Amino acid sequence: MSYPYEAPVSQELFDRAAAVTPGGVNSPVRAFRAVGGTPRFMVSGSGPYLTDADGREYVDLVCSWGPMILGHAHPEVIAAVQAAVARGTSFGTPGEGEVALGEEIVARVEPAEQVRLVSSGTEATMSAIRLARGFTGRVKVVKFAGCYHGHVDALLAAAGSGVATFGLPDTPGVTGAQAGDTIVLPYNDLDAVRAAFAAHPGEIACVITEASPGNMGVVPPLPGFNAGLKELCEADGALYISDEVMTGFRVSGAGWYGLDGVRPDLLTFGKVMGGGFPAAAFGGRADIMGRLAPAGPVYQAGTLSGNPVATAAGLAQLRLLDDAAYAKVDAVSKEIQGLVGAALDKEGVAHRVQSAGSMFSVFFTDAEVRDYEDAKKQESFRFTGFFHSMLAQGVYLPPSAFESWFVSTAHDERAVERIAAALPAAARAAAEAHA
Ligand code: PLP
Repeated sequence: MSYPYEAPVSQELFDRAAAVTPGGVNSPVRAFRAVGGTPRFMVSGSGPYLTDADGREYVDLVCSWGPMILGHAHPEVIAAVQAAVARGTSFGTPGEGEVALGEEIVARVEPAEQVRLVSSGTEATMSAIRLARGFTGRVKVVKFAGCYHGHVDALLAAAGSGVATFGLPDTPGVTGAQAGDTIVLPYNDLDAVRAAFAAHPGEIACVITEASPGNMGVVPPLPGFNAGLKELCEADGALYISDEVMTGFRVSGAGWYGLDGVRPDLLTFGKVMGGGFPAAAFGGRADIMGRLAPAGPVYQAGTLSGNPVATAAGLAQLRLLDDAAYAKVDAVSKEIQGLVGAALDKEGVAHRVQSAGSMFSVFFTDAEVRDYEDAKKQESFRFTGFFHSMLAQGVYLPPSAFESWFVSTAHDERAVERIAAALPAAARAAAEAHA
């Protein structure tokens, strides 16, 4: 396949990058492997726009994979960061910024009675799993196929079908021992969860689920699914862990919990709460969190945890996220969803736009997508044509058919108009695409 235009400076940077880092990127999905072509190296961002090294501007529908809910370089976030940087970048001691960020999270998300700050979503889920095992004295972990919880060894088991399948490592380097205690189940299938508990009574430490999955495309929980998980966990003495790294502080002020009200034992956060810096957290019931070192015996630590610059950025961003801000991202998301759907309809392209709050994605299929198997049945080759057409017209989408699209409060009328103008040709490219 040929791609609509060249990006010589990005290509040159990509060649240099490939010499010093595997595949030329520091996180695999950035490499455009799913869609082909040269990843764009971005040099700056402002509001809803990114500018690449070749000087082209894009409307950004990735928003750094979720964090940039106020758009790029929001003046108040930048000012908070500049003020924090001027005071020093890391002390290795407690500081007021991390207390304030912890207070902000606890105030917004009621089941997070206490939190511990970390530096990435991966660290948050890894630590939550360790804590769940330490608290319950149990070993097994239930996760769902298609849910991503970072690159935690035990959670990289995503393959498996049928009921109570023991996880097989998805990647070399994860041993059978690390993944063997992970039970991978189909998403949205409470019967499968019931059967797993029946097969392993008293052995399951926790069920971890994306609060509303965005990592196989957007596949919201069916009504009653999360509540059912919570009930089954409670009945067996296992913990219910809601991974809100993507949904937290994005789909509402209290994340997905704010929308479905199902109370997790533990929650994980990242992305939005860091304001574009490496800050993440896990939290939950005070009696469970109280088992963490130094209050309790479960060890967990981090040199840069609660970093003063990251906490300043996160706090500034969260404080700007009021009801009006959420109403704004919800409205612009709905508008873009409608435009995408209408353009694909016009070209007769089978598709479904699925959403969870302001998160949404487009599946190239007629059928409802309820789990990973459904998601994989879509005609993802159509996404490739669609993606490159949008890119060529200055709209930056996630470079994979299995990712959520993200918007920000900065996506204004002009940005939406640019998306609308690009859609007809992109829909035609999707219609004309071949497997
Ligand atoms: N959990 C979820 C739901 C995520 O979407 C991600 C990242 O995309 C993670 C965990 C891992 O977060 P990080 O990339 O910060 O390690």
